Amino acid sequence: MAAAGSRPPRVLSATVRFERGRWFVSFQVEVQRADPVPARPGESVGVDLGISHLAVLSTPVPDVTDENGFVANPRHLDAAQKRLRRASRRVSRRCGPDTRTGRKPSNRWRKANHDRNRLLHRVANLRRDGLHKLTTALTSRFGTVVVEDLNVSGMLKNRRLARHLADAGFGEVRRQLDYKTRWRGGRLHVADRWFPSSKMCSGCGAVKAKLPLRVRAFHCEQCDLVLDRDVNAACNLARLVQVGGSGTGVAADPDTQVSNGRRSRRKTPPCGADGVDASTPQRVSASDGDHPLVTVDCGAGVLTHAHSIRNGSVE
Ligand SMILES: [Zn+2]
Repeated sequence: MAAAGSRPPRVLSATVRFERGRWFVSFQVEVQRADPVPARPGESVGVDLGISHLAVLSTPVPDVTDENGFVANPRHLDAAQKRLRRASRRVSRRCGPDTRTGRKPSNRWRKANHDRNRLLHRVANLRRDGLHKLTTALTSRFGTVVVEDLNVSGMLKNRRLARHLADAGFGEVRRQLDYKTRWRGGRLHVADRWFPSSKMCSGCGAVKAKLPLRVRAFHCEQCDLVLDRDVNAACNLARLVQVGGSGTGVAADPDTQVSNGRRSRRKTPPCGADGVDASTPQRVSASDGDHPLVTVDCGAGVLTHAHSIRNGSVE
């Protein structure tokens, strides 16, 4: 994938890991590449992440959202849940490994476990595919992406929400937007956790004192604006950048970290601390297997990208 005339990618390190019965090896490589700049570098988009919809955008994007800006949540885990439950039941009925007594798993257990792992891999791959398509679509169109600083780990403690939230992959969306905006010279703006994106009117700026979660439509008493709750929130996020407003940080700028006193943000982002500069080599970490050029899967299922190794041979 390296452009003609540039240096070939240099492998810096490799990490092997075993996950759900498959082996993966990820390479950290240094590549020289210039990602195309966003189609609309001057524009910003507000992204409101949710559960009923994976995301709501302030501006509808063809092929990504419907005409109102909603990105459907595919809920892969829910769809697979029935089959997963059945597969897990079969695994637990069979004679599995026991570290205490040193018992080896039966062949029937291995087989059942393999079937369950296949299902889990499928859910994980579908989820990853969907999130990558969304984040690539956003960063290739808009120069600035604005998201809320959601307290994901706190929300995961809510037992009712946890599974749906983890399935929607909020944390992953934010991580991908962070490095993809950087690659393209755009920026990710993270709104303060206490920014009233839902309670504020995107038309006149009036802030409601209360807006319970079950109220799905935003109705402004000041200017009579009626809008979907999440669309209103997304518009507020987009406006936050246009008016140069009160967000607490620009994630693409390593000097300005998101800060609200709660938890210090990781100082070094996953893909390296440098801003994008097409003329300098970029160090790309693919430790969690999301960089198309460098992700290699040695297992039975091979990722769709550039180099893949199957049974030890490079295809
Ligand atoms: Zn209003």
